[in-house]
Amino acid sequence: MAGSLQLKNASMGSNYINQKKSLIKFVGFSTFSSSKVRANDTKLHESSNKKSFLTAEVFVGFLQGCTNKISLAEGKQVHTQVVKAGLSLGNHLLHMYAKCQCAEDARRVFDKIQVRNSYSWNTIIAVYAQCGNIALASSIFNEMPAKNEFSWNAMTDGYIKCRNLEDARKLFDEMPQRNIFSWNMMIAGYVKCGIFEVARELFDKMPERDTVSWNAMIAGYAKNGLADQALTLYWERWSSGFGCLLDLEQGKTIHVSAIKIGLVSDAFVESALDMYAKCRCIEDAQQFLVIHVVEFDKMPERNVFSWNAMVGGYAQNGHGEEAVRLWRQMQSTSIKMNNVTFVDVLSACASLAVLEQGRQIHGHVIRSGFVSDVVVGSALLDMYSKCGSVKNAWQHFEEIPQRDLISWNSMITAYAQNGYGKEALQIFEQMLQVGMKANHITFIGVLSGCNHASLVGEGCRYFDSRSRDYFVTPIIEHYSCMVDILGRAGHLDKVLDLIKNLPFEPNATVWGALLGACRVNGNTKLGKQVAECLFKLEPESPGPYVLLSNIYSAAGMWEDAAKIRNFMKERGVNTKPAYSWTEVNNKVHIFYVGDRSNPEREEIYATLERLATEMKLAGYIPDTNFALHDVEDEYKEHLLLYHSEKLAVAFGLIRTPPGTPIRIFKNLRVCGDCHTAIKLISSITGREIVVRDAIRFHHFREDTCSCGDYW
Ligand code: ZN
Ligand code: ZN
Repeated sequence: MAGSLQLKNASMGSNYINQKKSLIKFVGFSTFSSSKVRANDTKLHESSNKKSFLTAEVFVGFLQGCTNKISLAEGKQVHTQVVKAGLSLGNHLLHMYAKCQCAEDARRVFDKIQVRNSYSWNTIIAVYAQCGNIALASSIFNEMPAKNEFSWNAMTDGYIKCRNLEDARKLFDEMPQRNIFSWNMMIAGYVKCGIFEVARELFDKMPERDTVSWNAMIAGYAKNGLADQALTLYWERWSSGFGCLLDLEQGKTIHVSAIKIGLVSDAFVESALDMYAKCRCIEDAQQFLVIHVVEFDKMPERNVFSWNAMVGGYAQNGHGEEAVRLWRQMQSTSIKMNNVTFVDVLSACASLAVLEQGRQIHGHVIRSGFVSDVVVGSALLDMYSKCGSVKNAWQHFEEIPQRDLISWNSMITAYAQNGYGKEALQIFEQMLQVGMKANHITFIGVLSGCNHASLVGEGCRYFDSRSRDYFVTPIIEHYSCMVDILGRAGHLDKVLDLIKNLPFEPNATVWGALLGACRVNGNTKLGKQVAECLFKLEPESPGPYVLLSNIYSAAGMWEDAAKIRNFMKERGVNTKPAYSWTEVNNKVHIFYVGDRSNPEREEIYATLERLATEMKLAGYIPDTNFALHDVEDEYKEHLLLYHSEKLAVAFGLIRTPPGTPIRIFKNLRVCGDCHTAIKLISSITGREIVVRDAIRFHHFREDTCSCGDYW
């Protein structure tokens, strides 16, 4: 509070910069020996007489310098010189003494000022008030001929500092005009004394609030263990559209104290989640979710905001299933959902790739009248795209009454992600025809479309014309797409050229794309170099280790592969266990390698064994390179057959009607052996099989894959 009431006078410092050189010279001599001071003193007089150096303006600069340094000794020296020069710089001297918190000297200067203006009065009142001499401040305040806002505030602040809230409040109430500062000061005063009810009353009454007001209340509640109130208020601020208010530490304090005293409410959940999300503290958010998964169910009153916070919090933190579950629960209440609710739950469906549930939510979107909402529309497109149903995405796109850039970009991306590069480019051209202007996001879609469909020539063409013809600002994602396009096509020299001339610092995505290219091209030497860059950039990411080890394995360099795996273990890098899932009848079924937990395991394993025989007849040779286990070949084959994606495919075959597409999702990259096997399974069973892995989509049909075996 004191900081905000610091004495300010902009005009006083305005000459400071111009005078900086002379100031340094001048202030500098105060540290010299006394003889030198005398010598300089003489010089000072000489120049003073010539009026060439020490004008009033120069002294103001000197004083400002002392003020900035809060150097009373130097300030006093300048004061002496000012007197000697016969100048009257009352207010400037007053300002200096005030800043140096020297009330006595300030008073002496004040008394000598012949024509006092409001600044002189304000300053001396503030000096006394800040030094705690409230009696003197008050007597000067009473003498002051024309009181202004500043003097009222200074006095009130003085009373608050002395914890005399009664007189402070009296002044506050008498103030002819209160500004936001007056309100904040009074509220902070009550908060400091622990009188929260009155503070809150004022807070609720104040005509406008700023960050200081919100912070004073929230931090006050938090520090005093009133976490629930703190978070309710925080939530209120959040829901009224303000940005992040709390810093992480402050937030954690509130969170922890709330847990301690067992106070949990909807607002609490909302705020904590929001805080963690905003501070990008995903781990805390996840921990938080674990702790409160039970508590949320007990919460008494919830509104659309708190529901949204929970649904969105789960969706954004990788707990899509929980998000959908909560959304269903929300549906059974009378609370009216808004567009945020739908965007969040659709994004959960997209990440889970649960098409059936996504479609049902689409129905709700229509019934709730949000179908023409552009943001919800794009979320629907994204959901269909990520669930691997480009057909549904396109149907929805056609139904959008007014397509904006986001809708077009979403459709281009939908095609691109699913490996329909040509269609992505067609939509792009169509978009240009209707007069829509492309942006950098459009080009991510266009280039990744070219990438996923191996359209090397088109990719280069669009990349070159991007800034030239479409005036699109280049971003690093465009370059990583190009690295991918060129790299996978075997143009590693061109890739290296591109990286050399990159207008950005190459990031992990760029290096990652190059490492992927090294794998496709079997380039162990470059692969090693690139992986080492990545080990430095992202030491904890398992991807580069696994990729390099796979590059070595594919080249038969078993020892090197093993070394990398060990290196990874030594560094404590954890690989995520691979798993695949599929949605059948609104339920997600998850499979791990060799998983026997599914109730239908007998049928699943029998199906796979039958398929293996048929596949072998069709020429399938299990690629044991992908088994990566130190075991006998036969056992490797055995393990291969029960990779998570194969188990999920078999489950899909058993549980879905013949002829319908099967959709599988894998948390990691699909393995080479499974890719070959699923191609054959699609042909043997006559099913379309869609696999979305961590990198891209594979649409398997009739023994081919949309990726062209190029991923
Ligand atoms: Zn596999
Ligand atoms: Zn594929």
